[in-house]
Amino acid sequence: LSFASCNLPQKLLQNIEAEGYEIPTPVQMQAIPAALAGKSLLVSADTGSGKTASFLVPIISYCANFNLEKFSKEKKPLAIVLTPTRELCIQVEEQAKLLGKGLPFKTALVVGGDPMAGQLHRIQQGVGVIIGTPGRLIDLLIKHEIELDGISILVLDEVDCMLQRGFHEQVMQIFRALSQLQVLMYSATISKEIEKMASLMVKDMTVVSV
Ligand code: AMP
Repeated sequence: LSFASCNLPQKLLQNIEAEGYEIPTPVQMQAIPAALAGKSLLVSADTGSGKTASFLVPIISYCANFNLEKFSKEKKPLAIVLTPTRELCIQVEEQAKLLGKGLPFKTALVVGGDPMAGQLHRIQQGVGVIIGTPGRLIDLLIKHEIELDGISILVLDEVDCMLQRGFHEQVMQIFRALSQLQVLMYSATISKEIEKMASLMVKDMTVVSV
């Protein structure tokens, strides 16, 4: 499998090349085609495996193919990426900006430490993807009305770490606020608790391990 054979938007393919990604990593080879086909995934992958691009490429592709007129009118976000920490969110956003360059694709960070008003304002202007930590996103959802009925993809990155930080209930609360969802779960190790969480969210998760 090559990136060129994945039927990606031309500009995205160019950005992937510009980043110097020549061959998809093993996790990308499995996760990208499955995610593009709309499958929900439970992926065991470590940092350094190329996991971030393995969910960003399908998300950016989805956003780029979304009806631009409808998006401009409704300004509803299309995907959410949850990670355990502010730092990881910032890293994911940096990579998203590089891979999404020149495409109709905007991101909003929803993390602690920055004023909520600015984050909310950015979302209201119309972003494809919200990248945030569970705690701050819940705070934002409770205090403000953000329309989540356009969300089609939920990424849970480093789920093991999110559970260690006590985010289980917040993640489930966010999940329950969404419907018609493709879930992409990533974890270094897949514990019984993570399997249970996955099965509560989606009946037939495709398991990816490399
Ligand atoms: P991650 O596992 O997502 O933290 O990614 C680890 C590093 O690998 C990041 O710096 C990426 O830019 C890089 N990377 C991701 N995919 C590829 C690829 N297909 N070829 C080369 N480098 C990659």
